[in-house]
Amino acid sequence: MTITRTCCICNAPLHNKRLDAKTCSSSCRSKLFRLNQTKFVLIKFRIPSEVYTDLSIKALFSGNSISDYLAQLVVKQQ
Ligand SMILES: [Zn+2]
Repeated sequence: MTITRTCCICNAPLHNKRLDAKTCSSSCRSKLFRLNQTKFVLIKFRIPSEVYTDLSIKALFSGNSISDYLAQLVVKQQ
């Protein structure tokens, strides 16, 4: 039985690759690396409108959209 494994980025068949290879080439490998660097999670908040106003003012002053501003807050908590 032959199992054809494929590149997890471009789906090219992985021939003559190491058993633990996940990608066909160094460019796909670096794409995979970048994908693993940033993970996006969509979160919905239900907040009082005065908190929203406060957050949007802070976001405005920091030069970000409100979602970018919240994302930065979450990252800073870590
Ligand atoms: Zn590939």
